[in-house]
Amino acid sequence: MDTIPYGCQDINQADIDAVIDVLRSDFLTQGPVLPAFEKIVADYCGAQHAVAVNSATSALHIACLALGVGKGDSVWTTPITFVASANCALYCGATVDFVDIDPLTYNLSVDRLQEKLAQAKQSGSLPKVVIPVHFCGQPCDMAGIHALSQQYGFRIIEDASHAIGGRYQGEPIGNNRFSDITVFSFHPVKIITTGEGGMALTNDEQLAKRMRLLRSHGITSTAEDMHPRPPEELWNYQQIELGFNYRMTDIHAALGLSQMQRLDEFVAKRYELAMRYDQMLSGLPLVLPLQHGDSFSSYHLYVIRMKLWKIKKTHRQVYDAMREAGVLVNLHYIPVYRQPYYEKMGFNVGYCPQAEQYYLEAISIPIYFGLTEAQQGVVVDVLRKTIQA
Ligand SMILES: *Cc1c(COP(=O)(O)O)cnc(C)c1O
Repeated sequence: MDTIPYGCQDINQADIDAVIDVLRSDFLTQGPVLPAFEKIVADYCGAQHAVAVNSATSALHIACLALGVGKGDSVWTTPITFVASANCALYCGATVDFVDIDPLTYNLSVDRLQEKLAQAKQSGSLPKVVIPVHFCGQPCDMAGIHALSQQYGFRIIEDASHAIGGRYQGEPIGNNRFSDITVFSFHPVKIITTGEGGMALTNDEQLAKRMRLLRSHGITSTAEDMHPRPPEELWNYQQIELGFNYRMTDIHAALGLSQMQRLDEFVAKRYELAMRYDQMLSGLPLVLPLQHGDSFSSYHLYVIRMKLWKIKKTHRQVYDAMREAGVLVNLHYIPVYRQPYYEKMGFNVGYCPQAEQYYLEAISIPIYFGLTEAQQGVVVDVLRKTIQA
């Protein structure tokens, strides 16, 4: 029996040809394709600078460093996200804290953020950076978060790993109108892919420069950035910071550049699939994804919540039954602070009640470009039979 994954890349002949062209070219990495990929994404989003790296995790790390996150600082994010949104702060020696979610959009709640900021101000523990995550591709209330950043003096990194191709108040995610830096992921389950890869976008030239430096060992080859030395000791490069090898290769960038040609098509198809799910699932004891009026989601994920009081099965039983039937549903996500590594830091069950309630009921059902109408029918049939049995 063929299984249906929850997410899957779509690779066409043009993608393959683009990668092969790089393999036959002079540069496998640090060649001409990477800047072309950065430019096409920056232009699409209306951002001034784009820094491509080998993963969104790396992008989050250098974004935090560029904003000066370090020991003694605190970074806040949502618990309903992939662990990388929180780990990036720990890489910098900072601490992490979590703001509960909005029960309708599942994004970081601006009301809870406001309350927590007011308390933190009293105790002198305001965050340096807040990382809202556009969960499933649906933009957060960025205007609200931005207003609070002005009031309380924190910086903003949008973790838009789910959200390239999405829009907020009619404008593309990634334009940084309400943030300092936006991060995209190009992992194969995401909207477009480079195999592994990520990108950080910003309108601040200094931040872009700092991130470029950090992605490649902290080494500069720009004369004006070099520290003064006698002429005979000035060579073509200097290490001026401690950076990393987070570079994206031209092979990966070529795939990304080619995939960008179909970004709008990818998102349109996901939107179409989501609308069809909305209709097909409307009579079932489920909470379907709500779209806020300000947002156009890229629908990285389609998450349903079980109305368990109307279903004769547990959350886990529904999950297991669907997987056994070949529909490879998933759970996005276990609240980050419920991971054993985070529990060791002292986070307890019940810390974010809305996130935990969500976690007890949520299942991601398949949504991706290549999902056919027939397969979507199978998903709905299996789901219906499972929860009605
Ligand atoms: C996938 C993902 C990441 C990490 O992306 P990688 O490119 O795999 O490093 C970070 N945050 C969120 C919300 C993600 O979904």
